Amino acid sequence: MKYVPLGKTGLKVSEVALGGIPIQRRAKKDAVRLVRDVISMGVNFIDTAWAYTDSEEKIGEAISAFPREELVIASKSPAPDKKTFLEHLETSLERLKTSYIDIYHHHFINDKEKLDAVLGQEGAWQGLLEAKEKGLVRHSAFSSHNLDAALLCLETEKFEVMQIPLNFVDDQALKEVIPKALSMKLGIIAMKPLGGGLLDDAELCFKFMKSIEGIIPDPGIQQAEEMREIIGIIERSPVLTGEDRKRIETIKLKMGDSWCHRCEYCQPCPEDIPISRMLILETIPKRFPREQALELMMPAVEKAEGCTECGVCMERCPYELKIPDLLKELVRKAKEFQKTGVWPE
Ligand code: SF4
Ligand code: SF4
Repeated sequence: MKYVPLGKTGLKVSEVALGGIPIQRRAKKDAVRLVRDVISMGVNFIDTAWAYTDSEEKIGEAISAFPREELVIASKSPAPDKKTFLEHLETSLERLKTSYIDIYHHHFINDKEKLDAVLGQEGAWQGLLEAKEKGLVRHSAFSSHNLDAALLCLETEKFEVMQIPLNFVDDQALKEVIPKALSMKLGIIAMKPLGGGLLDDAELCFKFMKSIEGIIPDPGIQQAEEMREIIGIIERSPVLTGEDRKRIETIKLKMGDSWCHRCEYCQPCPEDIPISRMLILETIPKRFPREQALELMMPAVEKAEGCTECGVCMERCPYELKIPDLLKELVRKAKEFQKTGVWPE
């Protein structure tokens, strides 16, 4: 495993990090084993969040078997205000069983309002400064699904690390956000390198990621073996060939009219439909047993049934997705899955 500098933080991290979302759904002992196995493969960088239910707790248990200083731990708080941010941080530290967190993100900065709140007089940023002074946090960071919001964050010149989605379909950050972040020497964590489970060609996904200088992908995995495969791909230092680029274009074209980039420009929906969550619905039955999948899916599906086809979301979607039609189709498929246990193709 190669270890590379994470921007200007002074930290050296493995070329790939472990994302902490999927371990939420594993039994504690399996999750702890997975994290330990991945660390034993040489991954020293683990990313989680206060909001990922028991992810921090499982990671805390797993990392207690390793010297803390050999690991780089990132977590996040979605709090806009100082008081809640510091409460979240205290909980994160307890759950992670650690006296400090290397990188603590302001989570979900997806619009200017949230950024303004974080940077306001009693905002979360003040909490971060206090935490840094006390040695509880080493580096500042933000995470965002929205590139305009990410640019605004960069313009503040306050952050040392940013986390944004990046894969060969969600590649718009390569135009402006990533070059700007690189020029400012930020550490860049790329979430969703496998499209949040929608892209199943790991070889192509990680060839693409490897072709971009200065980013650390943090895939969420269900099994330690998946990380072994990813490390194998990265260590072969594959070059993205012309043929690969053609395949990427074909996949992008195929997915183009239904691929949700989760930028959230379409919100708010007057019927409170979680549009982006619906549009990635099919990743759930791929990853979870039927009962668990239904539990996760059905609240969103029930909301989506209330779509009035007002079209407000379509006017806002920069990718011109035909959202009401896509929702209708997904509701149909979810109902069939509920009956048969098989997700219809
Ligand atoms: S539906 Fe369109 S606007 Fe809404 S999150 Fe997806 S890509 Fe963004
Ligand atoms: S068309 Fe449906 S999903 Fe879109 S804003 Fe209207 S009610 Fe919401």
